Amino acid sequence: MSEQIDYDVIIAGAGPAGTTAATLLAQYGYQVLLIERDQHPRFHIGESMLPRAAPVMQRLGIEWGEGNLAKGGADFIDEKSGKRTFFPFQGKYRTYQVERSVFDEKLFNNAIEKGVTAHQQEKVTTVNCSAEDVTVTTDQATYRSRYFIDATGRSALMGKKHKSINKLENLGKFALYKHYHLASSPATEQLFATGNIEILLTDIGWIWCIPLINHRLSVGLVVQKKFPDDLKRNALFDHYINASPRMTELLKGADLWADLRMEADFSYFNDRRYGQRFACCGDAAGFLDPVFSSGFFFAAKTAEFIADQVHHGFVEGREADPELHAPGDQVYQTGFQTMYLMIERFYCSNIVHNLFFESDRQERIKNEITAILAGDLWLENNEFQKGLLLGRNRVANKTN
Ligand SMILES: Cc1cc2nc3c(=O)[nH]c(=O)nc-3n(C[C@H](O)[C@H](O)[C@H](O)COP(=O)(O)OP(=O)(O)OC[C@H]3O[C@@H](n4cnc5c(N)ncnc54)[C@H](O)[C@@H]3O)c2cc1C
Repeated sequence: MSEQIDYDVIIAGAGPAGTTAATLLAQYGYQVLLIERDQHPRFHIGESMLPRAAPVMQRLGIEWGEGNLAKGGADFIDEKSGKRTFFPFQGKYRTYQVERSVFDEKLFNNAIEKGVTAHQQEKVTTVNCSAEDVTVTTDQATYRSRYFIDATGRSALMGKKHKSINKLENLGKFALYKHYHLASSPATEQLFATGNIEILLTDIGWIWCIPLINHRLSVGLVVQKKFPDDLKRNALFDHYINASPRMTELLKGADLWADLRMEADFSYFNDRRYGQRFACCGDAAGFLDPVFSSGFFFAAKTAEFIADQVHHGFVEGREADPELHAPGDQVYQTGFQTMYLMIERFYCSNIVHNLFFESDRQERIKNEITAILAGDLWLENNEFQKGLLLGRNRVANKTN
């Protein structure tokens, strides 16, 4: 091991994955450098959280209800048929709809309070991991560490370096979204009282409707199928929002708070998530279409898996073992595959019509689906999940 080690662990990216990993490792007592190319607070989409992220937030010492809207559950609505089904989150963990710029900054400041050294407006450009140590070069300096964690989100620094990013086809292709400040009406007051995410089905994909504090609403159109060629971005968004009776009802008298934004290049899996002295977490490990709001949860959870494993690696003197993360990664894959299969069924087998809307009649199935939607992905006795995973051969080559 080189004697000129600057930090135990260097982490690229200070989104939820990076700040979670950094905080947990600092809590273990390691010297951690967290490098972020932007400056908090910075805008980020992805506002609807899952209950099972709560235990990780507790470990970080984050009071995540503070300043956020409590989320009652997820409401799937087909306006054409009038069918709807609601999955309430009634377990022991609460969850929230958060404004990500504010919340991510809170996680970032918390990491610093817990002892993490943080650099902002500094971009990691290259990473070289060897049996001896890690060299991390940024646009401003070069550092050496004993370990490297890639938490660069959809920039997927290590995945791109290793050319190990594989797209998952057939899910949503892109999202268009706007933010509004809503006028008060019985419909909007009821929405803010429940805090539910509403998922409205359309013929080209779906619309998310996420209430935030201060009477604000995040609205996104996720497009999966072929759409009218003559409609470009703004017109496409407006066309589908205006065609929705529910959106028309909620947006009556609303002011635009943030104009149209777009995210493309959906859903991929990083085939090389770990190796000698490095591991990837959050979107840098894999990203799924946001229909079930799983991104933040996976970011926090994978960061937790990796931070704990890096700690064990240091304690046991195994940190240079390229297979250090193999056991934890298997656990992660079970969760990721479950969510992927749910999303794949959502688009390709119409699970919502065939099962969600019918699930009232089968309480057990409804409860098991609710568990998955809450992020409870590692239960022993979820028969619905077992069935999903057993049928996975069809798609396993895409996520294995
Ligand atoms: C349209 C859309 C809707 C979504 N909706 C939801 C939702 O409702 N609920 C949900 O849970 N999730 C949602 N997500 C997903 C969620 O936003 C992400 O999964 C989550 O932000 C992942 O966290 P992360 O820390 O891995 O990555 P990020 O939050 O993206 O953080 C990565 C950080 O790395 C920094 N970075 C990148 N490259 C470098 C570099 N070279 N050097 C230094 N820093 C770097 C970036 O600036 C960024 O701050 C949505 C995503 C999309 C695209």
